[in-house]
Amino acid sequence: MVSIPLTPHPVDTSRIRVDIQALQPDLVEWRRQLHQRPELGFREQITATFIAQKLQEWGIEHQTGIAQTGIVAVIKGNRPGPVLGIRADMDALPIQEENDVPYRSQHDGVMHACGHDGHVTIALGTARYLSQHRPDFAGTVKIIFQPAEEGPGGAKPMIEAGVLKNPDVDAIIGLHLWNNLPLGTIGIRSGALMAAVELFNCTILGKGGHGAIPQQTIDSIVVAAQIVTMLQTIVARNVDPLESAVVTVGKLNAGTAHNVIAATAQMSGTVRYFSPQFDGFFKQRLEQIISGVCQSHGAAYSLEYYSLYPPVINDERMANLVRSVAETVIESPLGVVPECQTMGGEDMSFFLQAVPGCYFFLGSANADKDLAYPHHHPRFNFDETALGMGVEMFVRCIEKYCR
Ligand SMILES: [Zn+2]
Ligand SMILES: [Zn+2]
Repeated sequence: MVSIPLTPHPVDTSRIRVDIQALQPDLVEWRRQLHQRPELGFREQITATFIAQKLQEWGIEHQTGIAQTGIVAVIKGNRPGPVLGIRADMDALPIQEENDVPYRSQHDGVMHACGHDGHVTIALGTARYLSQHRPDFAGTVKIIFQPAEEGPGGAKPMIEAGVLKNPDVDAIIGLHLWNNLPLGTIGIRSGALMAAVELFNCTILGKGGHGAIPQQTIDSIVVAAQIVTMLQTIVARNVDPLESAVVTVGKLNAGTAHNVIAATAQMSGTVRYFSPQFDGFFKQRLEQIISGVCQSHGAAYSLEYYSLYPPVINDERMANLVRSVAETVIESPLGVVPECQTMGGEDMSFFLQAVPGCYFFLGSANADKDLAYPHHHPRFNFDETALGMGVEMFVRCIEKYCR
């Protein structure tokens, strides 16, 4: 007669997918509930309550109200070992949803148009799986539910509140559902994955007057137009062509009538780059150009310049770990997209500055099901099959790292 072992047994990795697939209907339900109640940054109360209720139900130790609406869950394995952080952002966007689905947003003008409802769901699915499989890992997993990724940024206040301490997080991973990649692919890269985000607002102060008597005025529109053109030379002429950077003026307002010379012009824009060597560089060049052009016209200016998020930079060792796991989850090495990069930004960068880690993109577009609209589009939606894949990625990363 064969005896059946009841207590700690070696990890049967083939069970991981089966057990996660059994969670898939729950994942879809949670995601749809979250999708119906999207909330803007630092106002994620319903979302936080939803997360806390689930963690409570599953007997998972957690702390709420960190950086206003953030939550940290702590799940310990059955033996001492490293501490791995998993990060999920919680917030939605000020967009009116145009999807005609039964689970569409019930909050007017607010929508989960970036997939953060999916990120919360994947993190919850990971917590649920771990709560049922504690003997399978060493050390501790800390799941960090972070508010306000879309701005002004919840990562920094959460780190300042001590979420990476006690127990101290040794490494961190996170993912973004990514409609720029098809379902069944994962984008990973060691080094810079996403860009630094900087913002500026500039007001040109000229002198108004009659449209037919320009000699009595300082035309802020002419000054602004030259500045916009000159700013393009920063990337074209001051940046190494082998580096990547963007300077975009996204807003330009001036004037009131066809025959009035505008006294002031206002412009706003964004700067993006990957290499930390550019920290401070664009601010300096921007100011040199604005000041020089204004001086040559006798205009004055005011400039506000903000560094919002630093670049998202992955640690090589952690990126290799995530890549090897991705090859198991995707099953075809062709599905693992190397050197994936975007000029989009993310405040996951603050976590990656504090501890080594890896952020990666989980392909979620499915054009056959009309689920391929870009992020931040009023018809953004993703293939929910990616939810289980996300949980499997996290669980397998945990089993590989926490040993
Ligand atoms: Zn977004
Ligand atoms: Zn996002």
